[in-house]
Amino acid sequence: MAASAPLSFLSSCAANGAPKIAKDAWTGYGAVGDYANSAGNTQTVMAAAHKIRDGVYSTANLTTKKLDEVYDIIIVGGGMSGLGAAYYFKQNASASQKCLLLDNHPIFGGEAKRNEFMVDGVHLMGPQGSNDFGVPRKGTGSMTDKLFEELQIPREFKFQEWDSNLKPLSFGLDNYAHMTGVAESSLDIGYFFKKGQYVNESQWVNNMWRDDLARAPYPEKVKQDLLKWRYYEQTGRGGEFSRLLDSMTYKEYLEGVLGLSPEVTRYTDPVIGLINGAGADAVSAFAASQIGMPGAGRARGKNASSPLSFPGGNTAFARYFVKYLIPDAIQGEHTFEDITNQSVNFEALDRAENQIRMKMSATVISVQHEGNSDSAEHVKVIFEQDGTLFEVKARSAIMASGGWVNKHIIKDLPKDIHAAYGEFTYAPALIANVALTNWQFMYKQGITAAQWFGDGFGFSCNIRQSMIIGDYAPPLHPDKPTVLTFYMGAHTPGLSLAEQNMAARAKIFGTTFFDYEKQLREQMLEQFGATGFDPDKDIAGITLNRWGHARITQQPGFYFGLDGKPAPREIVAKGFGRIIIGHSELNGHQSWTGGVSQGFAAGEKALALV
Ligand SMILES: Cc1cc2nc3c(=O)[nH]c(=O)nc-3n(C[C@H](O)[C@H](O)[C@H](O)COP(=O)(O)OP(=O)(O)OC[C@H]3O[C@@H](n4cnc5c(N)ncnc54)[C@H](O)[C@@H]3O)c2cc1C
Repeated sequence: MAASAPLSFLSSCAANGAPKIAKDAWTGYGAVGDYANSAGNTQTVMAAAHKIRDGVYSTANLTTKKLDEVYDIIIVGGGMSGLGAAYYFKQNASASQKCLLLDNHPIFGGEAKRNEFMVDGVHLMGPQGSNDFGVPRKGTGSMTDKLFEELQIPREFKFQEWDSNLKPLSFGLDNYAHMTGVAESSLDIGYFFKKGQYVNESQWVNNMWRDDLARAPYPEKVKQDLLKWRYYEQTGRGGEFSRLLDSMTYKEYLEGVLGLSPEVTRYTDPVIGLINGAGADAVSAFAASQIGMPGAGRARGKNASSPLSFPGGNTAFARYFVKYLIPDAIQGEHTFEDITNQSVNFEALDRAENQIRMKMSATVISVQHEGNSDSAEHVKVIFEQDGTLFEVKARSAIMASGGWVNKHIIKDLPKDIHAAYGEFTYAPALIANVALTNWQFMYKQGITAAQWFGDGFGFSCNIRQSMIIGDYAPPLHPDKPTVLTFYMGAHTPGLSLAEQNMAARAKIFGTTFFDYEKQLREQMLEQFGATGFDPDKDIAGITLNRWGHARITQQPGFYFGLDGKPAPREIVAKGFGRIIIGHSELNGHQSWTGGVSQGFAAGEKALALV
């Protein structure tokens, strides 16, 4: 096994002349392109947010610069919810009405952003967060069907082709399908059992679910329980069953109701920890069913397929919205190719003549009615941009920014909403994109995805079979560059939900870029050293995208309330006066469509007020 090279952002420079940019020792390398300054919550974004949390702006006498404009609607947050609200506005407002959208990141999209690399002349993209989507059936009239129609989003795609002269390998089309083994029939995944994890020597088992765990090193009872879990045909349906699931944790459901062994719970923990934000012992079984976890969700047969992902994940939807809202803001025509591949024209986002203006790197610090919320005619918004505090008015404000910040910045928030927000807990996540010069070490192992167990850097990674979009046409060959993507949460079974969230944030936010890089390289050496992995030659760049409040975590009762009390999300969703609250977490499980639907609903309520 080759020794690990000294560490110093060394693998964080794109090959072939792209700049070596070390933003800071925590944010690390942001890669190239429109998103180079905006990998997850950068240190700059986080520092601005922490000033709000720490009460730096809580004095009543802030010195502000007043802007003359009075907007019909101000939207706080430029993620899917905020962009959805802006889209609703553009479709339904009169030509004279104006809207201002404020976001604290250098670029719009919220959790739907991407990393771009140039490696040996090959342009590569990977998702920073929001990743997969389903294609809506044409003509159903659903929200997404209409959106695909109106924005002219294609429903059929071209993908990289696999050379039939190479050994047969299959790939996930997104970065989730490999995670539970449920879609294993559509991709080649290796499971790495470390020495001591049921085996005396570390070993790979490829595609272990395909022969019903026959080659997996689990004891027979664990195998039987894992298989029961995987193919469980639950018959519960409807509201009553949903309420039953929401009255207990997923662990209680698996072990107490289905009678499965704790090893099954442990197998599910990393996925639940990533997507639901805490271990299965703290998360509502209904939350697990919402993400299709076996046992609680509908059983999926052996041939479950992979959902789709654009090259930069759901970034594509954010870019479609922006192209529609402010056509000049993305160069080129309103085509799939230009919207995906052309550069953002940042200057066009905030032109005075725009019906919708978008200010980036603008952190909102205060939102408040001018007077009593029942009778006020305006909402006053204060935001910080480039060190200056600006004050601006609107007839209505949409808070599409997330509960963790709303409870600090809405100054006249009613007590019941404040208390309900107090019950929202959030988990962080870390998404690493590793640009590789080649991936022979996985090809030799016969896999395109990997999963491992216990401690480590994340729990799985994969190479997608990418969409080809015009000039964006990276090759699919083990000798050529690609992106290997890792999604990870951090859960600590045994602690309460809030404690798990705090521990996770301390871990993901308390580790420097250098330390993560070291962990990643050492782990890949341990797993792939035998098939020739050499970090110095094979890694061209690493980006870390940290999301402090990636997911709302859903404790039992989150969805339907417990003991006859209303669910906190229902209390928050009411909003008050001219302040409308709409962000994806009000749906529980978060998705790009959930964000957009919240945005539409908020847009409708806000327009009714102005
Ligand atoms: C790691 C990860 C993976 C995901 N994977 C998928 C997936 O595969 N498929 C899917 O459908 N969904 C996925 N999601 C979920 C989904 O994409 C999100 O729920 C949705 O995009 C969130 O939209 P939002 O607008 O509600 O929130 P956000 O995207 O968080 O947008 C809110 C915006 O408000 C900004 N903001 C916060 N405070 C302020 C302030 N004070 N002033 C100004 N701006 C502020 C934030 O920085 C952010 O830009 C994923 C999410 C994460 C984190």
